[in-house]
Amino acid sequence: MNADAPIVIVGTGLSGYSLAKEIRKQDKDTPIVMVTADDGYSYSKPMLSTGFTKGKEADELAQASAEAMVEQLNLQLRTYTTVTGIDPDAHELVLGDERLGYSKLVLAWGADVIRLSIAGDGHERVFSINDLMDYRAFRKALKGKKRVAIMGAGLIGCEFANDLRNGDVDVDVIAPSDALMPGLLPPAAAAAVRDGLEGLGVRFHLETVVEHIANSGEGVRLTLANGEELDSDLVISAVGLRPRTELAAAAGLETQRGIVVNRALETSMPDIYALGDCAEVDGHVLLYVLPLMACARALAKTLVSERTEVKYGTMPVMVKTPCCPTAVCPPPANASGNWEVDADGQDVRALFKSESGEVLGFAVTGGYAMEKQALSKEVPPIHN
Ligand code: FAD
Repeated sequence: MNADAPIVIVGTGLSGYSLAKEIRKQDKDTPIVMVTADDGYSYSKPMLSTGFTKGKEADELAQASAEAMVEQLNLQLRTYTTVTGIDPDAHELVLGDERLGYSKLVLAWGADVIRLSIAGDGHERVFSINDLMDYRAFRKALKGKKRVAIMGAGLIGCEFANDLRNGDVDVDVIAPSDALMPGLLPPAAAAAVRDGLEGLGVRFHLETVVEHIANSGEGVRLTLANGEELDSDLVISAVGLRPRTELAAAAGLETQRGIVVNRALETSMPDIYALGDCAEVDGHVLLYVLPLMACARALAKTLVSERTEVKYGTMPVMVKTPCCPTAVCPPPANASGNWEVDADGQDVRALFKSESGEVLGFAVTGGYAMEKQALSKEVPPIHN
C-alpha cells in the first residue's frame, strides 16, 4: 500500500459530500479523491419528492456543479466513473481497466431501486426516481402529460402522489398492502394519510399488483391482478430500495442487509469504511438523512484525527405529505408493547408504549404533527 495515496470516497450523494465537508472542516489539505458514476451535482435528495409543490425543475434542485464542489472542497472528483471492483489487499479500487490506490476507502455508494419484472411492452414509460438524473428524465417525459400511475404505497410513493397532485397531475397508486406505508405507520396514522391524499384526488388500488404494462401508443395500459385496467401516461416504480452490497461482497467484505460496519463505520476489511444508504451500521439500515449526517461527522474525525464512534439519537422521520402532515419514529423492531391511539379525523396521535408505560415510538398526523419535537424527547435514543 502507498501511504501517500489519497482518501478515496465513492459516491457524491449526501453521504459522500457530507463526509468531504466534515473532513475539510478539520483538515484543509489531506488529499481526497471522489469517484462517482453520476454527474457529481450536489443536491438534496429529499427535494426530489417536493419538486412540483415547490415548482422546481431538475436544474433548480441542483445546488452546485461538480466543478463548484471541487473548488469548495479542494479535492479531485471523477464524474461518470463507475467502480467495478475493490482489491483490499492492494488497497486499490478497480475502475474498469484502471486502478486507483487509496490510503483509506469510503463506500458511500447508496442503494439501488428494486426493479420488478412485469410483463408487457410499455417499460420505456416506467421510471424510478432515486437521483437527480432520474428526476430530470422523468420531468422531461412528463412534459405535456397529465396522468401518472405509481407502483408502491411506501413513503416515497405517497410523497410523489401528494407532490404530483399539487402539480395537477392525475395520480393512481397501486400496491399490494392494505394500508399506506406498512411497516412505518400504524394503521390509524396510515388511514389519516390516505384520507388526506384521497381528499386531493389520489386514487388508490390496494391489495393488488400491476401484472402487465402495455404500450398504448400515447401512454400505457396497466392490467392489475384484480382484473382492473388503468390508462396512464407514465408509471413511477417506487417499490423499495436495496443497499448496494454486491461489489463489497465480491471483495470479501461482510454484508448482510447492507455493508456491515461497526459504530466506527469500519467494515470487516482494514482501511475500508461505509456510510449512508449502502451501510448497515451496528445492525441498523436507516435510509434517511439524519443517520448519514451523524455518521459523516464521526467518520471525518476517525479519518483525520481519532477513532470515533457514531451515536444515534432519536431520529423521527417527516413524511412529506402536506395534505396530512405526518411524523413518525418507529419503535425498535423487537420492542414489545402496544399502540395507544387518539384519533379525530385526520388528527392522529399514536404512541407505542411498553408494558411499563414508556413511550418507545410514535406516529403523529394532522394537527398532532406539531407534537413531534416534544415526543422525540420522550423516546429513548437508538444508541444509549
Ligand atoms: P445516494 O444519494 O444514492 O448516492 C450514491 C452515490 O454513489 C451516487 O453519487 C452514485 O452515482 C454513486 N455510485 C453508486 N454506485 C457507484 C459505483 N459502482 N461507482 C461509482 N459511483 C457509484 N430521507 C430523509 O431523511 N428525509 C426525507 O424527506 C427523504 N426524502 C426522500 C425522497 C426521495 C424521493 C428519496 C429517493 C429518498 C429520500 N430520503 C429522505 C432518503 C435520503 O435522501 C437518502 O437516505 C440519502 O440521500 C442517501 O444518500 P447516499 O449518499 O447514501 O446515497
